[in-house]
Amino acid sequence: MLSIIVPVFNEKDNLQKLNDEILFVVQKMGVSFEIIFVDDGSTDQSWKEIESISSKNQNTKGVRLRKNYGKSAALQIGFDTSSGDVVITLDADFQDSPHEIPELYKMITKDGYDLVSGWKQKRFDPLNKTIPTKLYNWATRKMSGIELHDFNCGLKAYKKEVVKNIDVYGEMHRYIPVLAHWAGFTKIGEKVVAHQKRQNGITKFGPERFMHGFLDLLSIWFMVKFGKREH
Ligand code: UDP
Ligand code: MG
Repeated sequence: MLSIIVPVFNEKDNLQKLNDEILFVVQKMGVSFEIIFVDDGSTDQSWKEIESISSKNQNTKGVRLRKNYGKSAALQIGFDTSSGDVVITLDADFQDSPHEIPELYKMITKDGYDLVSGWKQKRFDPLNKTIPTKLYNWATRKMSGIELHDFNCGLKAYKKEVVKNIDVYGEMHRYIPVLAHWAGFTKIGEKVVAHQKRQNGITKFGPERFMHGFLDLLSIWFMVKFGKREH
């Protein structure tokens, strides 16, 4: 089974269309699947929308967090809830394309990857985001030894064992490949993916993202350097 997880914070205008597009792509794959929308305490009509979509589609379900815990927590709940042997995450705002799903699925099932991260080689984000992001990716590569270009791509595919053995908390969604590697999953790959402008709504991360990112990079560095593995 394939599980598709979408973290949602105030994305009401994207959800129906995203569900339709995922269905369009995944139904052709001939595998059983589930779509899990994790509502991360939205204050708009997102949860109503998720309820309505899931009442009409047996493959779609919704999970709701009591308040806005952040993308990491939303992904973690999605991972806990998922029952697929392959798990794919994507953002709700159409910056990630559902059309990448079949190839990502193949890289996990046929090519034997533990984790495949999307690489937004050509990005449609403002410069004040793309430049610091390049720096973070460089620093994370150096620190972790993992040769990825784009650690924080929303589009990622995992073997079930990976999502059931990592703990994504705080703002650690930016470093999931590092968490997975640290937990012993070393076959990590990347796939160039199409990237688009956000279609509706606004970004949920302001300039403070870089402060968070920096502090998290430090804690990740401590973990890799001095941490004891639990698994
Ligand atoms: N998101 C979330 N909780 C949050 C912030 C964001 O679930 O507290 C979701 C959001 O709805 C989207 C994804 O995480 O599906 C990425 O967020 P966004 O597009 O705002 O980030 P950006 O693309 O600007 O990095
Ligand atoms: Mg986005």
